[in-house]
Amino acid sequence: MKGKLIIISAPSGAGKTTIVRHLLEKELNLEFSISATTRKPRGNEKNGREYYFLSVSEFMKRVKNDEFVEWEEVYKDYYYGTLRSEIDRIWAKGKHILFDVDVKGAINLKKIYGLKAISVFIMPPSIRELEKRLRLRGTDDAAGIKTRVAKAKEEMKLADQFDTIIINNQLEEAREDVTAIVTSFLKGKPC
Ligand code: 5GP
Repeated sequence: MKGKLIIISAPSGAGKTTIVRHLLEKELNLEFSISATTRKPRGNEKNGREYYFLSVSEFMKRVKNDEFVEWEEVYKDYYYGTLRSEIDRIWAKGKHILFDVDVKGAINLKKIYGLKAISVFIMPPSIRELEKRLRLRGTDDAAGIKTRVAKAKEEMKLADQFDTIIINNQLEEAREDVTAIVTSFLKGKPC
């Protein structure tokens, strides 16, 4: 039996990473899909744990070989993609796959996998709140925050293409809402 796909997407600063971690801690038989990226590792990130870190030429070679199920230039000159081999690896273990991908990647994965997949958009309560959270997070300078906010506005326009939208007013509530939705999707009919 092949597993299902859980696709989580959100503008940066909307609380996605915390929600993804929470889902992985639950006993839902989920495994995180490790994407390939051309960005450099940050902090403690390890190759093969958070991402497969590739050079642009390695990444493009794999694009040519049709090794990606989807890929995007998420930020200018930074490519991210889901390798077909990653999906096979997780399904071979009899597990469901949890994706943390950008909005376009999420919409593409949902189109490909249809009823086997659920796509969840984590919506920040407002642009102003998102800006505040990004400032508090302290990982971006003023210009970086401006870029992320502009991108978030574009991404929020695509939210209605998702199966479900969760508004992240209170992180704990949002976490529980997502967990409930994912749990009931996984309990549903196998497809
Ligand atoms: P970060 O560099 O902060 O880890 O991720 C930047 C963005 O890239 C996030 O929105 C993340 O969800 C997205 N992303 C990560 N992996 C993939 C992927 O495989 N495909 C796509 N389309 N986006 C991805």
